[in-house]
Amino acid sequence: MSIQFQIEATRDDARAGKLITPHAVVETPVFMPVGTVGTVKGIPQDLLEELGVNILLGNTYHLYLRPGVETVRQMGGLHGFMSWDRVILTDSGGFQVFSLNELRKVTEEGVTFRSHLDGSTHFFSPESSMEAQIGLGADIIMAFDECTEFPANWERMRTSMEMTARWAARSKKYFEEHKGEVPWGRAHVRPDASIGAGERQLSVQAAELRCAGQTRASALRQAEASRKNPAGTSVSAAGGATQSLFGIVQGGMDFELRRESAERTIEIGFPGYAIGGMSVGEPRETSREVVKATLAHLPKDKPRYLMGVGTPEEIAMYAGMGVDMMDCVLPTRAARHGLLFTSAGKISIKQARYAKDSGSLDPACRCRVCQRYSRAYLRHLYAANEVLAQVLNTIHNLSFYLDTMQRVRHSIRLGEGTRPPSGVSSQPKP
Ligand SMILES: [Zn+2]
Repeated sequence: MSIQFQIEATRDDARAGKLITPHAVVETPVFMPVGTVGTVKGIPQDLLEELGVNILLGNTYHLYLRPGVETVRQMGGLHGFMSWDRVILTDSGGFQVFSLNELRKVTEEGVTFRSHLDGSTHFFSPESSMEAQIGLGADIIMAFDECTEFPANWERMRTSMEMTARWAARSKKYFEEHKGEVPWGRAHVRPDASIGAGERQLSVQAAELRCAGQTRASALRQAEASRKNPAGTSVSAAGGATQSLFGIVQGGMDFELRRESAERTIEIGFPGYAIGGMSVGEPRETSREVVKATLAHLPKDKPRYLMGVGTPEEIAMYAGMGVDMMDCVLPTRAARHGLLFTSAGKISIKQARYAKDSGSLDPACRCRVCQRYSRAYLRHLYAANEVLAQVLNTIHNLSFYLDTMQRVRHSIRLGEGTRPPSGVSSQPKP
């Protein structure tokens, strides 16, 4: 087994369900925090678990450059290396190569690029991206695609889309031939509810096997964390779970090219489909229209992943349109710049108006930051450039995003329609 996707409730185009992966079960629609180099900046893994994060992202480009795929592979993959028992998704590295490298050179074979760290020259192809992602060992990995820049003319969008389709076929071919090399040991998932005491012991042993090379205490801690996972899964050494490779639809901002890209990607055949090439500088309204047009051509029974989007009201809106998975650096990056999402709008905590504000950051938020600290204190930490400012701000913003999606899931299950929940806004606070 690799993944299963179960839709349990629908309302108009929106769906609520479960993504069952080899490491944990994820309730969808889901927002996935970005853990670029094996960490969600500033937030330890046990705190992510406490916040209810069941799936996070790793960036192949960054991990490939540092610490290197071979190091991660030898540490049991990203799960073992970063001590994370829940679900991980890695991107293909393509987007970073395109966004961080002005000196890149693209050919049919792949992309030559320079490291942003030391200027050294590297090469990514569909095959090498798959090799890297298999070594990192995420539950869900992505086909190597070319992210078309914006703006681009029709010829350019077409050429790029066609290359992405050829690269998708090469990605799948390599993945199918090498998927047995994932550094997990052999694992499969089963619902926690069906696990008895004896089997639970087995799952502890499995975790120990999986964590070979780590201390027994660390393995037991992981097994215990897995057992406590509220999403309810456990990993056993039996079975033959593998990663799942998702395809990516490109085609720039052209509806017809998006349709053709979707059809060609579906023809190759993947267990899930992503919409790539968004958030590249296009107007928000354009993104919405392109996503809507693309969703119409994706299979209803497979997970749909919108890459790199968006604000709190956008993630609620896209979930309403039938997107199941989203990721974005916005909540974590904005937090590090003192920009905080609240139920009354977005605030910049550095403003002098908060210097003597004894109120909580967001009275409607139940996160540990809003329960404990004043705006005045958060402003002081930020002004003093204290590390804790980044940590607390990130905890709040992530909580706000996760809470937003929880409310969206709840409203879909209650049949309440697809409006963004009240209090979700990223407009500046008046
Ligand atoms: Zn909060």
